[in-house]
Amino acid sequence: MNTTQSMILVVEDNPDNSTQLVSAINGLSTNGVDFQELFLQILPKNKQLTQDSQIPDEENFRQFLMLDNLDQVSLCFVDSELGRFRQNDDLPILNKDLISRVCGDLGIPVCVYSDAADEDDLERLSNWTHRYVVIDRNLSFDALAQLGVNISEGFEQIRNGLREDSAVEKDTLSQLGKILNMPEDAYSHLGLYSIGQVSALPIKLQKAGLTPDVLSRAKSVSMGYWLYNSVLRYPGILLNTAALGSYLDIDPDYLDESTEIKGAFDKALYKGPFYEVEPHWWKCEIDSLLVECPNETAREYLDNLGTIDIDKLPQAMCTESGEPDGVGYYCIAKKQPVCEVHSAGGHSWLPGGAVLSRISQSIWDGLSPFYAL
Ligand SMILES: [Zn+2]
Repeated sequence: MNTTQSMILVVEDNPDNSTQLVSAINGLSTNGVDFQELFLQILPKNKQLTQDSQIPDEENFRQFLMLDNLDQVSLCFVDSELGRFRQNDDLPILNKDLISRVCGDLGIPVCVYSDAADEDDLERLSNWTHRYVVIDRNLSFDALAQLGVNISEGFEQIRNGLREDSAVEKDTLSQLGKILNMPEDAYSHLGLYSIGQVSALPIKLQKAGLTPDVLSRAKSVSMGYWLYNSVLRYPGILLNTAALGSYLDIDPDYLDESTEIKGAFDKALYKGPFYEVEPHWWKCEIDSLLVECPNETAREYLDNLGTIDIDKLPQAMCTESGEPDGVGYYCIAKKQPVCEVHSAGGHSWLPGGAVLSRISQSIWDGLSPFYAL
């Protein structure tokens, strides 16, 4: 049994929203979330930030977190729009960037729920270096709470993995490989995802004279952002359902609903941090299953199993042409299969290693003039 206590700090400027979100998170803890007990603090309801106008907002928020060991929270769950903090002179001006800076130094992960999570602007599409994770707030409070808890757990898994493997100086790639339970064949591929970002951080923080515990926490947060925002989000080494459908040329919705077909690829299923947020599969493990077949196709592989009627298997449609034109790639804007002809790729703003990630031609045509600036 995992006895780790988890504490989610909800930072919300709307009392109704925070009440609903908190009760949804509490509901999870009594309905079988047996691994943890969740404690909640709401800003600014339960605690007052110091109202001394002489203290900069950033320091004010840091001091607030240090009270009652709030610097030990397992996730800071933040509303992306905190406008009411600006309207109230007694409160510091809090926003997601300030919160993520302060939390980053203390080793606290930040998850922002935002209306803009699904917009197709380049800033969002290329924000894989952000120091927080973003989720779509247009979900029910129950779904939002569940996502927050799953994300909190993902960071916790990384934190625990690092704790077991306590040497912070150890090679980041091998630490991550262990935490991700990574197949041997994936190591060189993972290194392409700008792993330098993660390795560089502790050096910067070490210079700031932080304790080994905070350093280790900060490193786990950094790894979590990198994993969530880069590796899991841009298919290459790992494939989400739409990317897997495209890669296998099977309609992703059909794939998602068929436990039999998904089961056939169970061996490749990713079981590392954030696996409960969204299923992913290791590309190298999928390849090693298909390589047994003469033409290395999913249809041959499934046909060989003898239990699946492959004639009924719908092909994946290209999101641009609406046709089964070979697909193979994943459009990061539409989150759908796309073919090479109807998409653009190889951009420097995509993480290295994201070999199956492209962007639909029609969306790219709208974005590229801005990108050219
Ligand atoms: Zn196409």
